[in-house]
Amino acid sequence: MLLIVLAVIVSVVIFASFCVFFDQAVLTRSGTIYRVKTDKKMVALTFDDGPSEVWTPLILDELKKAGIKATFFMIGRHVKKYPEIARRVVKEGHLIANHGFAHCVMLYYQPPEIEEEIKYTEHIIKEVTGVTTKYFRPPKAWLRREIKEHIKSLGYEVILWSLNSKDWVNFNHKKIVRYLSRKVRNGDILLFHDSGNVFSTEGGTRNQTVKSITLLVKTLKEQGYEFVTVEELING
Ligand SMILES: [Zn+2]
Repeated sequence: MLLIVLAVIVSVVIFASFCVFFDQAVLTRSGTIYRVKTDKKMVALTFDDGPSEVWTPLILDELKKAGIKATFFMIGRHVKKYPEIARRVVKEGHLIANHGFAHCVMLYYQPPEIEEEIKYTEHIIKEVTGVTTKYFRPPKAWLRREIKEHIKSLGYEVILWSLNSKDWVNFNHKKIVRYLSRKVRNGDILLFHDSGNVFSTEGGTRNQTVKSITLLVKTLKEQGYEFVTVEELING
């Protein structure tokens, strides 16, 4: 019994350390857009896993106060559940992008399965908001190189990130902002979440994410940065 408890504790510690100290996106970046080479002091804030009934509206309020636009990589089944919130995101001028329907790890998916995830989500988002998505972010960044080519053939760009806020394991918004403002460079794509927690894409608290927006925007604006959507960043 003691051995089982120890094994569980060790597994949790290893998993937590992996989450905190390592960003798996560095392993799968090739063939994707994870930052944009530019001389302009521009960065893009991105929010994954929403819409959430609770947190997306609060994040939208903060973005509105800050007067900036962001990009939301939405999960198809969450758009189905909270269509009004998805519509609000579009109405307020933000970019909606595709994060698949069920948030499955797609590392071993075959082209038809990937196509179904992306196209079904595209259909839902189009029906709810009128927007046809062009940018796709694979859940947890896991994707094989061959599959990236297939996604491009569907008319999509695969978007990852260059700076990970780790807002799903970091519970102090000042630390999040300190880390990001120290690391930030022109053309960075910053990862946040507007739904979920360590174990799930729903529920959880995004309180630190909400709190970090105002402070981050203030800090980076002082450094001369402008906030744009992923599309604006790519188009320069
Ligand atoms: Zn996600």
